[in-house]
Amino acid sequence: MLVYLTSAPETRPATVCMERQAVRRAREAFLSGRTRPVEFRLQQLHALQRMITEKETEISTALKQDINRSQYDTPLLELIGIENEIKLAISKLSEWAAPRSVERNLFTLKDEVYVQPEPLGVVLIIGAWNYPWAVTLQPLIGAIAAGNAAVVKPSELSECSSLLLRALLPRYLDKDLYPVVTGGVSETQDLLRLRFDHIFYTGNSTVAKQVMEAAARHLTPLTLELGGKSPCYIDKDCDIRVACRRVTWGKFVNCGQTCIAPDYILCEPCIQGRVVECIRQTLLEFYGADPKCSPDYGRIINQRHFIRILGLMEGYTPVIGGQSDASQRYIAPTVLKDVPPHSRLMQEEIFGPLLPIVTVSDMDDAIRFVNEREKPLALYIFSKDKKAAKRMIEETTSGGVTVNDVLMHYTLSSLPFGGVGQSGMGRYHGKHTFDQLSHHRACLIRSLGMESLNLSRYPPQDRQRARR
Ligand code: NAD
Repeated sequence: MLVYLTSAPETRPATVCMERQAVRRAREAFLSGRTRPVEFRLQQLHALQRMITEKETEISTALKQDINRSQYDTPLLELIGIENEIKLAISKLSEWAAPRSVERNLFTLKDEVYVQPEPLGVVLIIGAWNYPWAVTLQPLIGAIAAGNAAVVKPSELSECSSLLLRALLPRYLDKDLYPVVTGGVSETQDLLRLRFDHIFYTGNSTVAKQVMEAAARHLTPLTLELGGKSPCYIDKDCDIRVACRRVTWGKFVNCGQTCIAPDYILCEPCIQGRVVECIRQTLLEFYGADPKCSPDYGRIINQRHFIRILGLMEGYTPVIGGQSDASQRYIAPTVLKDVPPHSRLMQEEIFGPLLPIVTVSDMDDAIRFVNEREKPLALYIFSKDKKAAKRMIEETTSGGVTVNDVLMHYTLSSLPFGGVGQSGMGRYHGKHTFDQLSHHRACLIRSLGMESLNLSRYPPQDRQRARR
């Protein structure tokens, strides 16, 4: 049996040992073959579904403690999506896991030719804190469906969710196949020294480079679900009131800590004032006169991010919001207008409740603006003119795009979710996760008959010529 461990400095012997044992047990369980039958995978998926249904309140409470997430938002933003993915996997698994017939050529007309999806082995899932259940369980659903074992490493920053996940998963799923390893940077780095068959990382691009370096040491394939600055263009001819209501929701839900939140608005100067007023009106509808008192408005995950986000605002006078309270890590929903394209606010992903507006002269200028920057995870276009919106899609690139709304492409399991360039690599959701975490094995089954047809490919070639 292969031992998939490499030497590592024993700086934290006890924990390192536990992590190694968890990974070793997962591999041994995988090698036992028990994930191979589709029935086993279905049974695990049903158990995961039961966990979400039975523990919804505990999960919502953990997120309330982690980021003051509204109890109403957790089912809407995370749990319904996870449940839908499980249901889809359960209903389609036999089809996804079945051999896929492919075209034959002249020499293989009588043969069996197919692609067999098969498990990769042990997958390492490293999650971020902002949607800690979705970013760990959605890849896990695909890993289970594809017949893999998976080691789940949730983020230490969303501590309550992380500890709850560690307590719950072994109560519902096979204890050896799907261990949860908790901890921070050093625990993750220890895990990354070990050999896996796929690494599925969600988080920022700086750490992604380290994950990729670690994966390279073992030639491990990986999926990187990253972030970046997702632009939102609002055309002057659209229904600005509706556009702003949708943008305000997508930007300020989860306190702006959403990977595909619209990072900034691009619009013509003639509508900037109206955009600001519509957002102001919507914020009042959503969170009342003082968002700090609203049960629907979140908080920043930790002090480091709180200081970072306030730093981005330095030197600006917001047209909306700007208030903060360090004791609660509260930052009000904030809008900044006429933001210069090269300002600090426009250099890094905001990942907080600040919404800059940058003016452009028209849609062509907006297209240029987007194309001059890194490829974003999402692009949003608000326009009444479908042809113009499609032109903007054709002339730009991004991981995904939604026209006349925000975030919604994420909710469709049929659409591959993932980034491009600096916003990530690989894709998931629905069958895309299953495919991402499977090996697509090329299978050709020939018979030993009809050998005369094969003679032309055997040497010596002189004899072949003589025959012709
Ligand atoms: P984070 O700090 O929780 O880090 C993510 C994971 O990496 C954690 O499990 C953490 O323990 C581990 N980690 C952190 N530093 C490490 C290091 N030096 N070495 C090894 N492991 C390390 O989360 P984050 O990075 O702040 O997450 C926010 C980012 O994630 C944003 O850029 C956001 O856009 C992106 N994101 C992307 C998606 C997506 O689906 N594309 C979803 C959520 C978040």
